[in-house]
Amino acid sequence: MNTQDFDVLVLGAGMAGLSAATEAANAGARVAVLERAPMIGGSAAVSGGYVWAPATEEDLRQEDRGEYQIHGAKVVAGYSEAHAWLSGFTAPLTPERPALAGRGRKYDLPLAFSRMSQIIQRAGGMVFPAVEVSDIVRDSDGGFLVRGTTDAGSAAWRSRTVIVATGGRQADPNARAELSGGAGMALRGNAYSAGGGMNLAVSLGGMLNLENKGFYGHLFAAGVTPVSPVDFIAFALYQSEQGILLDPEGTRFADETRGDHNNATSLAAHGGRGLLMWSEAVQAEAAAQPFVAGSPQMDRWQISKDRGGRVGVGSSLAEVAEAAAEWGYSISPDLASDPVVSERLGGGTIYFAEVVPAITYTFGGVRADARGEVLNSAGEVLGGVYVAGADMSDIYHKGYGGGLCAAVVTGREAGRNASEQALGTVPAGSAPPLAASPEYGMI
Ligand SMILES: Cc1cc2nc3c(=O)[nH]c(=O)nc-3n(C[C@H](O)[C@H](O)[C@H](O)COP(=O)(O)OP(=O)(O)OC[C@H]3O[C@@H](n4cnc5c(N)ncnc54)[C@H](O)[C@@H]3O)c2cc1C
Repeated sequence: MNTQDFDVLVLGAGMAGLSAATEAANAGARVAVLERAPMIGGSAAVSGGYVWAPATEEDLRQEDRGEYQIHGAKVVAGYSEAHAWLSGFTAPLTPERPALAGRGRKYDLPLAFSRMSQIIQRAGGMVFPAVEVSDIVRDSDGGFLVRGTTDAGSAAWRSRTVIVATGGRQADPNARAELSGGAGMALRGNAYSAGGGMNLAVSLGGMLNLENKGFYGHLFAAGVTPVSPVDFIAFALYQSEQGILLDPEGTRFADETRGDHNNATSLAAHGGRGLLMWSEAVQAEAAAQPFVAGSPQMDRWQISKDRGGRVGVGSSLAEVAEAAAEWGYSISPDLASDPVVSERLGGGTIYFAEVVPAITYTFGGVRADARGEVLNSAGEVLGGVYVAGADMSDIYHKGYGGGLCAAVVTGREAGRNASEQALGTVPAGSAPPLAASPEYGMI
């Protein structure tokens, strides 16, 4: 079997892996990027391309009050530098605008990825698509041997350091069941990310944090089935933040104004199916406006209807209740006298949908220190193994501060540190302990 030698080996060619590999190549390392899918780009290539983050740590804390938020502050601190770096590959498509719990700019990310690939190759590295990694072992000299298969057959790669950036475990149906109390969830993310990188990190002694049950996702109308990644954005009912969400007993269980992504996690923790209602005014605005600047304008109620989703309209709450009763919802006539409900639904037509949570990526994953080095169960670094992006545990927990910015910031950091270690400039395990730094005080 042909074995090729590199300084740094990156698993996964999404935003985190390509950022890591480019940073390592820029530091002079020869990098191999092994990608499971037949194309590079991962989730970023099908994403909204909106690189955003909360403006301050306080804003992040307001959005995410979870106990497992350890690395999130890095995303806030790294936002400006991430934009400066990305703008070196391609100019932003939009000026900076408010987005979710922060602000951001949209990019042509596939173009940025082609430029990153060029940098990796110029430094003597290579991006290998369609690789199924089977195992990873430590060499007798402390380096790593990764084995796998390509279209051409068995292959192996040797390297001084490894970066795990395979995008989480949402494509594993068991993970989706676990995160939704057994109800299961639709997949709204990369179909190749089934926890492969996490398993490889564990095989080297790495520790996972699967207690962090947080995830990023959106609500879909029940019954719609995404057949291609464009459906991930088309079906997301972003307007739920202005609606009313009920469980089958007709009870509100979430603060809907915390955003559709938080409504999706609340629903997953509360039985997995709900009834979402919104007003005529919200429908008109949602159908006419892009969700964030530069994103497509589309009527998501209509698209869901056209694809067989459980949606409807009613001229009054009583009419909605009658229709929803056929789906197993028991809505009391008293709900109409709730001031929040009457204010949000207005006096006109009510749009409604039975909704289910759809997951984009998992927040639990591989534990790491402040430099992105993977930790073992004793909290010590393994030495030479790094993690970035959605595979990294504890960036977010009960809220979301942006996946792309998190991938750039943690990816670049892992790339920088892994290449320094591989090239012999910095020893392994030189990170400050997380709890000792005020920057990481949100554990
Ligand atoms: C529809 C959609 C819209 C989004 N919009 C936005 C947005 O506008 N703004 C924002 O901030 N975030 C957005 N996100 C989230 C953001 O795209 C992700 O959080 C981010 O791209 C994750 O990057 P990553 O590199 O960690 O993972 P990924 O991009 O998922 O990359 C992981 C890569 O690893 C590969 N892989 C998986 N398993 C293996 C294995 N065993 N071996 C080798 N390779 C493997 C995968 O194929 C993939 O290419 C969106 C996501 C989706 C799906």
